[in-house]
Amino acid sequence: MTLSVAAERTTITTHFIDGRWTDVGGPTFPVFNPLDGEIVSESAAGGAIEAKAAVAAAAAAFPAWANLAPGARQMLFLKAADIVERRTEELVELMAVEGGASRAFSAFQIRLSAAMLRQAAGWGYLPAGDILRSDVPGRTATVTRKPLGVVAGFTPWNGAFYLAWRTFLLPMAFGNTTVIKPSELAPRSAGLVHAEILEEAGFPAGTFNVITHAPGAAAEIAEVFFESPAVRCINFTGSDKTARILGAQAGRALKRMVLELGGFNPVIILDDADLEESIRAVTFGAFLHQGQVCMNSRKVYVHSSLHDDFVSGLTARVEGLKIGDPRDPGVIIGPLIDDRAVEQIQVRVQDALDRGATLVTGGRANGRLYPPTILTHVPADAICATGADETFGPLLVIEAFDDAEAAFRASQNTPFGLSASIMTRDRARGLDLAARFDTGIIHINAPTMASEAALPVGGVKDSGWGRSGYYAIEDFTEVRLTTLSSEPGRYPF
Ligand code: NAD
Repeated sequence: MTLSVAAERTTITTHFIDGRWTDVGGPTFPVFNPLDGEIVSESAAGGAIEAKAAVAAAAAAFPAWANLAPGARQMLFLKAADIVERRTEELVELMAVEGGASRAFSAFQIRLSAAMLRQAAGWGYLPAGDILRSDVPGRTATVTRKPLGVVAGFTPWNGAFYLAWRTFLLPMAFGNTTVIKPSELAPRSAGLVHAEILEEAGFPAGTFNVITHAPGAAAEIAEVFFESPAVRCINFTGSDKTARILGAQAGRALKRMVLELGGFNPVIILDDADLEESIRAVTFGAFLHQGQVCMNSRKVYVHSSLHDDFVSGLTARVEGLKIGDPRDPGVIIGPLIDDRAVEQIQVRVQDALDRGATLVTGGRANGRLYPPTILTHVPADAICATGADETFGPLLVIEAFDDAEAAFRASQNTPFGLSASIMTRDRARGLDLAARFDTGIIHINAPTMASEAALPVGGVKDSGWGRSGYYAIEDFTEVRLTTLSSEPGRYPF
């Protein structure tokens, strides 16, 4: 729930626990518009007490939710999808002021979210298991998929609206109940607004809970999640750095984790690629949401016969992207999330230039606004080119190649393995090369950033594990074996 305090025109948000908006009047923390630092809202500053209450509510709601008839669950998901679409204008505004998202990016997230809700609505009707043959005479073996229990989710600030749906609805569609801890940078678009929508749709109390916290208090909440026996899985979307901290805790608590982390996401443009299509795909893939999406392209390897035309065509295209306040519907490039994000790009561009790289376009911040930036002739040891770390912003490295095999091998020299693209007119060549990529996702003739609600998105190596879409059944259910013996057993003693 949001309360508008008229005198200050400030919105105060509260936790959502056990079907109730709680804690109005408790401590709060400000949430800022990344563009100008204006306070967008005051959010409830929760901690261990709220986390425990939320876990208890989710645990109490679990048995009834797990056993709800598929038709009843379906109606709730379908209703939530309708509400998402009805609230489009308001959601676009929210994503702009909390996360700096352009209208194009918000509309993309809203479409994906509604589609995912509608797809998940039908999953309750899919087969619940298998009957297996047994070697033991008179024995039948049944394998059923069971929900885990409470799934606790961490959501990031970027792509927050869609990713928070992924965090809520995939576990819930398979019969789990949830507690979400949204990013402190965007608590409404990363979780609270979802609670408003699920509440309006009529989801039972306790099936979803949201607790918010001030900067610095995430660890206290995480500890409750890891220590609660009722929490059977931690569903984390965020950086590999945070995942390493939480993964260590998961090890100690022996808790299952789903990890959706960052990527380095190379594009290989072969000599037979469609140049125009490559330029369009890379513009979108590299610069959607100012390069602050896990699947944004970070490095393009382009055949030397196309290199110069590709660089000049791409430069012309990205220089035409309007930069500014994302509430302006014409703006494609909004602000970076905070000063640290601006500094990261500035440091990495300077590092590359100091090592002899060529700046083709961009490279200069205007407050939090940072233009699409292209570097060529970047030495392999420059921070932005090594592939060892994700540069989370509008910075793209372009490298020419003559030997496609060498370019491919270089593209694999990264600890990440989320997404990649190949551009080629030769489908067989594309498929052969694609088969060798060590990534969770490989697109041929499409950007690295090509999400669809039904398709399983997820990474390998340091990009994490777990998949979205229906494949999430592997992450959010347990296989239960039941046998029935109808003849006396034969035992060795
Ligand atoms: P982040 O890791 O800083 O934060 C993610 C979540 O973890 C937030 O809810 C945050 O509050 C929480 N958190 C941070 N430190 C914590 C701690 N010590 N203990 C407990 N919780 C803690 O990531 P971010 O900056 O919000 O998001 C950007 C990152 O997420 C990028 O690396 C991006 O690539 C990745 N990402 C991946 C996917 C994917 O699907 N693979 C999607 C979106 C973002």
